[in-house]
Amino acid sequence: MTDLAEDIRACRLCTARFAATKTQHQPRPVPWFRPSARLLIAGQAPGLQVHEKGRPFDDRSGDRLRDWLGIDRDTFYDLDRVAVVPMAFCFPGYDARGSDLPPPPICSTTWHDAVIGGLTGLRLRVVIGAYAQAYHLGRKGPLTETVRGFRDHLPDAIPLPHPSWRNTGWLKKNPWFETDLLPVLRQKVKEALGD
Ligand code: SF4
Repeated sequence: MTDLAEDIRACRLCTARFAATKTQHQPRPVPWFRPSARLLIAGQAPGLQVHEKGRPFDDRSGDRLRDWLGIDRDTFYDLDRVAVVPMAFCFPGYDARGSDLPPPPICSTTWHDAVIGGLTGLRLRVVIGAYAQAYHLGRKGPLTETVRGFRDHLPDAIPLPHPSWRNTGWLKKNPWFETDLLPVLRQKVKEALGD
């Protein structure tokens, strides 16, 4: 890990914010990057399972994401090749209805430009969800339109919905995602990770 990753791991800027959530948890940043990474997974924020395990996408969403990308766990967790940089490095907690809170903006403003600017070996960004798409692609419109227009962002980036199993209904309503987007995604990931 780089010094920057160690600085992030020690960050406690959101202590009061997280203490006021339903889960009343402490910050546990999960930085996961090295400058050599070729593939960036740019997501929203860790979920509760990731908060507990300290490893990104080590849950059912991660299994679905790896299937979408066409790579196995060993490849996904190879820090020299794959970076996982969400818009917040900590689990933001749940609101009163049990839904995920948004990533705290202070995380992005404090860390993001330095982290992304340091990924000098990047070949492809896989950009998951509306918050990351606003930052990486400058897109603030509806997520479905952004993902449907994935070809607009090639060859450097591909937007995706969150691989949460809660989005299974979205996937059923948008069959083009599986037939049109996934084959392109898998090919681009293969090219990005190849020598
Ligand atoms: S979410 Fe980001 S800014 Fe907040 S404590 Fe975690 S690392 Fe720090």
